[in-house]
Amino acid sequence: MTPMKTVKDYIRTIVDFPHEGILFRDVTTLFADPRGFRIAIDQMLHPYAGQPIDKVVGLEARGFILGGAIAHQLSVGFVPIRKKGKLPGAVISEHYQLEYGEAVVEIHDDAIQPGERVLLVDDLLATGGTAAAGIRLIERLGGEITGCAFIVDLPDLGGHKRLLDMGMEVHTLCA
Ligand code: 5GP
Repeated sequence: MTPMKTVKDYIRTIVDFPHEGILFRDVTTLFADPRGFRIAIDQMLHPYAGQPIDKVVGLEARGFILGGAIAHQLSVGFVPIRKKGKLPGAVISEHYQLEYGEAVVEIHDDAIQPGERVLLVDDLLATGGTAAAGIRLIERLGGEITGCAFIVDLPDLGGHKRLLDMGMEVHTLCA
């Protein structure tokens, strides 16, 4: 009997994307598979069963795909964190460091009410720079972060420890 595929088995690695020397974890193959996508969403939700969550926040862009499905499953609202200049309403912004240069992410300033319990979602945790900026945005609006959920963890890049050091509860499905 062939063993059941795990979440990791549905993810492919693309060599030299977007730059030479980078091994890019491509989750589109996971999203495209009906069983793969379902078990990924189920496993991301599993640690939070029975916990009150008011909003799911997803990081652009693959966090939108996961966050939308998770929010629907929890029957709560979904809030996007987007790259600078993409959101139409009034926003607050956070800067963070990239390997070369800086990036900015934004959230609508009325998207989260003080005291709302938030689940932060993205596909992959590397240095943690993107997630840390997202955490700062949510906390500036008064949101309380219940947890941070990712599919792929690249712990050697330090993001997991960085989020733990910020006091976050972090759940990932595979490395
Ligand atoms: P970090 O800010 O933790 O260094 O990088 C994580 C962010 O970059 C996430 O939003 C993630 O979508 C994206 N990212 C970085 N490397 C990869 C990769 O190999 N595969 C995918 N799917 N996303 C990546």
